[in-house]
Amino acid sequence: DLPNSKDTELLNRARRVVPNGVWGHMATRAIGPGFPQFFSRSDGCRVWDADGNEYIDFMCAWGPNVLGYRNAAVDNAALAQMKSADIGNGPTEVMVELAELLVDTVDHADWALFQKNGTDATTTCVTVARAATGRRKILAARGSYHGAVPWCSPSLVGVTAEDRANLIQFDYNDTASLVAAVAEAGSDLAAIILTAFKHDVQRDQALPDAAFLMAARQACDRTGAALILDDVRAGFRLDVRGSWARYGVKPDLAAYSKAIANGWPLACVAGVESLREAAGKIFTTGSFWYGAAAMAAAVATIKILRETDALKKTAAMGERFREGLAQAAARHGYRLRQTGPVQMPMVLFEGDQDLAIGNAFCAAGLRHGIYMHPRHSMFLCAAHEAADIDRALEAVDRAFSDIAAAGFHPH
Ligand code: PMP
Repeated sequence: DLPNSKDTELLNRARRVVPNGVWGHMATRAIGPGFPQFFSRSDGCRVWDADGNEYIDFMCAWGPNVLGYRNAAVDNAALAQMKSADIGNGPTEVMVELAELLVDTVDHADWALFQKNGTDATTTCVTVARAATGRRKILAARGSYHGAVPWCSPSLVGVTAEDRANLIQFDYNDTASLVAAVAEAGSDLAAIILTAFKHDVQRDQALPDAAFLMAARQACDRTGAALILDDVRAGFRLDVRGSWARYGVKPDLAAYSKAIANGWPLACVAGVESLREAAGKIFTTGSFWYGAAAMAAAVATIKILRETDALKKTAAMGERFREGLAQAAARHGYRLRQTGPVQMPMVLFEGDQDLAIGNAFCAAGLRHGIYMHPRHSMFLCAAHEAADIDRALEAVDRAFSDIAAAGFHPH
């Protein structure tokens, strides 16, 4: 097994001063056995854990890393901005520049508002929709993740029934269930919120069905409710214009974060003209929301995404990884279900109800120098080169050999 004495020591120290040592989705107990908890370094498409073990990374910080960790152009822009002003008594010029760039880049955007986390952005979208309509009901898909606050948290611990009283659920890509939810909301429908594609945990991913998106758009047009695209996970990774640009469906509001500044902390709500007034009326703010360094990082990131073939290359590398994984699985007699966009893979084993095979496979991958997730969408970035993918596929091949030797067979 990999050396992990430093990791164990840090976790033990953390447990004394932080509840459970670590929390949320990045706690290894929420990921799987064998995962290191602490990291010491990241660069390009690689990460090093606290004990110095090196991995080719397929989580990309769970989305923020789109160009490669420590991308020099982005970090230099942010650090240069930091030298003059970052957190202050108000925004700097770079906020205006970034908003102009977003309005020019994102298909539906007539204005932008900035926050820090994806949850800030989705929650702001919901507040704008309610302010604009004067209505209460929010429709969200069962199993879709929109953040970690009471209106949408996947856990009900510490959440009241009242917090959820205005949330109505439907099934993603199921038009009939959406229509039923719209009917249930009746004249109180404020918004429908949808992730860019179906990317729920431990489920096959699914691209949005065009007819389903159209039904959501039409329901909002008919009732005056807002169509919210939660593009936090997929935004600026699939398409700089917004993840629905290829479907020709325009949201009224979209939430961005993760990849928008290549790892610098920033979130954004981009909206249409008709919601500008409501967006200007709500009270929304945070001590760090005008931070100029992250905004400079976002300007640099979006310019690179617009001006280079970074996203095209990421897709090509995703294709290479998916194809290689499928071939390796076939060689070893395993059947995989690889779903969703190739840049954001979900890899599940056929018949692996309790994830025993997937967990063992990812744990074996770690030992051979590749960091994958057994049940969450993964991420590729523009720093993955063909040689990295090929090296990762060698690790994958060894991981399949290991789990076969350990007696994990498809059931
Ligand atoms: N929406 C989606 C689709 C997400 O994937 C996430 C983060 N995983 C969020 C919202 C919340 O973002 P954050 O964790 O930055 O608050």
